[in-house]
Amino acid sequence: MDYDVLIIGAGPVGSYLANLLGRDFKVAVVEQRTSFGGKACTGIIGAESYEMLRLPGKAIINKFRGASFYSKIISFEISRKEPQAYMVDRKILEKELAQRAVKKGVEYFLGTKFLGFKNGRAVLQRFNERFEIEAGFYVGADGVNSRVAKEISARTDAEFLGGYEIEIVGNFEKTDFVEVWVNKEINEDFFFWVAPINESLARVGTIGRLDPLFKFLRMRGLKETKIVEFKTGTVALGIRKPWIKGNIALVGDAALQLKPLTAGGIAYGMLCSHALAYSLINGRTRDYEKLCKDVKKEIAFGLRARRLFKYLSQEQIEHIFEILSTREARQLIEEVADFEEHAKTIKALIKHPKLLAKVLKVTPMIIRYLL
Ligand SMILES: Cc1cc2nc3c(=O)[nH]c(=O)nc-3n(C[C@H](O)[C@H](O)[C@H](O)COP(=O)(O)OP(=O)(O)OC[C@H]3O[C@@H](n4cnc5c(N)ncnc54)[C@H](O)[C@@H]3O)c2cc1C
Repeated sequence: MDYDVLIIGAGPVGSYLANLLGRDFKVAVVEQRTSFGGKACTGIIGAESYEMLRLPGKAIINKFRGASFYSKIISFEISRKEPQAYMVDRKILEKELAQRAVKKGVEYFLGTKFLGFKNGRAVLQRFNERFEIEAGFYVGADGVNSRVAKEISARTDAEFLGGYEIEIVGNFEKTDFVEVWVNKEINEDFFFWVAPINESLARVGTIGRLDPLFKFLRMRGLKETKIVEFKTGTVALGIRKPWIKGNIALVGDAALQLKPLTAGGIAYGMLCSHALAYSLINGRTRDYEKLCKDVKKEIAFGLRARRLFKYLSQEQIEHIFEILSTREARQLIEEVADFEEHAKTIKALIKHPKLLAKVLKVTPMIIRYLL
């Protein structure tokens, strides 16, 4: 046996897991890229999770204490005094996590692609050289289009959508607020976000198709000729299962551990890494999925909320924005909102008798999808 654990993929989740296992096991990580970062990702992570997961402070490039929501005709703000979310530089985050793991004894194979399993061994390719590694346990942390998931015949009903993100030069006065724009007439698949890095640079993105992003830029008064970085990726919103089969597990995007309402996956992947590390260290790998039950519940709720979003017309969204922009609703959101637990905020809103009565007038389908 070459290693106790072989992790395939050195994204944020793979390297985070390597850190959790490095002291107890002989661990290796294989990564097809030759350097870190570069993925399309806005890099927004809840501040509370960031601190709890002890992620590196030096990766933080901005902090947000609020969000401005815009529909076609209504806008409102939700804010708190303290930062609620951080924006990170993915390259710094991934490299720092890898460095920490190496210091714990984890071995990295960069530029090394996992091709499949053969006789219980991982078949790998580094440039022209093919070789094999045998491990007691294998983890696929290899992202949405996971090769490891295919190898264990994991099945999914997920929507696979394009993810687009640009960095653009402009005037962004409120650098501690993220803008969220919901306009199904421009993009019926998702919202648009504008997340300032500083007063003159922001990350802007959406999920779905590309042309709505350019329409949005024009509407938001941003010029496409001021784009200084452009990245595309894939998100998959749905369920992939199983997350574990024999001595092979999936974690992070490979297991589709991401929030269906925002496509944020870094924190959930890391939370599930804790569950996987705990079950491995205690020799009870069968408990892995059970230990992720809170994340699973959030994903299931998020998928129902997404189905509701897809069902709603822009006119109905305008009415919902009207309700959410009332002082009563905003106060409630400011009180209960949790960056990682969308269900908590939505449930608090629909359990409020007056707000529920108003929302039901917009559509009784709320009950069917969310309760
Ligand atoms: C436009 C966009 C914006 C996003 N914004 C946010 C955000 O603000 N906040 C947030 O939390 N999430 C965001 N996400 C989602 C986030 O990017 C993912 O949830 C996160 O990257 C998951 O990390 P991971 O380590 O599981 O997978 P990945 O980051 O995808 O890493 C997988 C790694 O595995 C490697 N790999 C793949 N196949 C192989 C192979 N065969 N052999 C070897 N290595 C392999 C890849 O090269 C990669 O390094 C966004 C996604 C998109 C598309």
